[in-house]
Amino acid sequence: MSRFRSHRIEHFTESVIREMTRLAIQHGAVNLAQGYPDFPAPESVKQAACQAINGDVNQYAITWGAKPLRDAIARKYQRSYGLDYDPEREITVCCGATEGMIASLMGVTNPGDEIVVFEPFYENYRPDALLCDAVTRLVPLYPPHWTFDPAELRRAFSQRTKAVIVNTPNNPTGRVFTREERQAIAELALEFDALVITDEIYEHILYDGCVHEPMAAMPGLRDRTILVNSMSKTWGVTGWRVGWVLAAPELSDCVRKVHDFLTVGAAAPLQQAGIAAVELPDEYYRELAVSYGTRRDFMLDMLKTAGFKPFAPQGAYYVMCDISTFGFKDDVAFTKHMIEEVGVACVPGSSFFANPERGRQIVRFCFCKSEETLSAAAHRLRRLL
Ligand code: GLN
Repeated sequence: MSRFRSHRIEHFTESVIREMTRLAIQHGAVNLAQGYPDFPAPESVKQAACQAINGDVNQYAITWGAKPLRDAIARKYQRSYGLDYDPEREITVCCGATEGMIASLMGVTNPGDEIVVFEPFYENYRPDALLCDAVTRLVPLYPPHWTFDPAELRRAFSQRTKAVIVNTPNNPTGRVFTREERQAIAELALEFDALVITDEIYEHILYDGCVHEPMAAMPGLRDRTILVNSMSKTWGVTGWRVGWVLAAPELSDCVRKVHDFLTVGAAAPLQQAGIAAVELPDEYYRELAVSYGTRRDFMLDMLKTAGFKPFAPQGAYYVMCDISTFGFKDDVAFTKHMIEEVGVACVPGSSFFANPERGRQIVRFCFCKSEETLSAAAHRLRRLL
């Protein structure tokens, strides 16, 4: 049957993160693997979705996204970052940041193009690149602070570089790039005439006074940046699959061409709810960051108490942990023990590295969970002692 298998799917496996969720369910483990909240979404956003369904918003929205949502997104970027995007030509609503990312890559790459990716990376980027027949050039982020070596970053760029993917606040490390780091990336993108494709879904989940500034706001980058974002993390609706891509008209055209035939459009009634979401006052974002900060502190405490060596995140809602003190052969054996014996699911660190060896003594926990869930996990982690 191999004649029916595309070469494009030969070099990656199914999502390890989602596989961990399945195992957590199977073994009744507390799921701190896949990053999705288990607490309610904002009331006004849910009401807006219900109203849209009751109001028979049942048919396709415009392929680029319902106009009122694109208008509301434009207002949000102006309000939050002083960035102006034309809703008619520069904003495309898609099915989550996942589609935004792959539609962008498919729209701008040709086979053999190189994509610079920081490692560890969110597991989608490599399959995304492989599905485009593009090549990833990896730049290591080094613990404990997950910083990169500017010389290594430079070596990753070449005449074949089509784009660099920037995900800050970062999944899985929780790193928020400083202005200097972003500047270094920006300079190379300009020097090598490369695009910057950003995954900004954790933009509002920040700790310790860290701030988020989109790469598109850096001098010279506005028109070479493809900004990808979604409702999933900021409004806690990962299953709604509503995201957006912001880019200069010429780049938006490339993304739209793929999006049009890939998915036609995101769920129309949920796009209406997106308007209510992006129009929530800034207070919503402040409270979001504070409440995640409390969860982060609780999580770090419970992990340290259980014998882990966690790397404190500056943003997003994951903690990478060193597990070498537990004496397990590798991250996969440890995760299996965690799910089956301890009753808490995490993600093996190797799934965030191209070379699995670099993640062999690391696991990732998420803490986008209710107090009850986190307390239940803390209780079970005592089994490790
Ligand atoms: N972004 C979430 C995570 O990293 C969900 C990922 C997924 O479903 N693959 O856990």
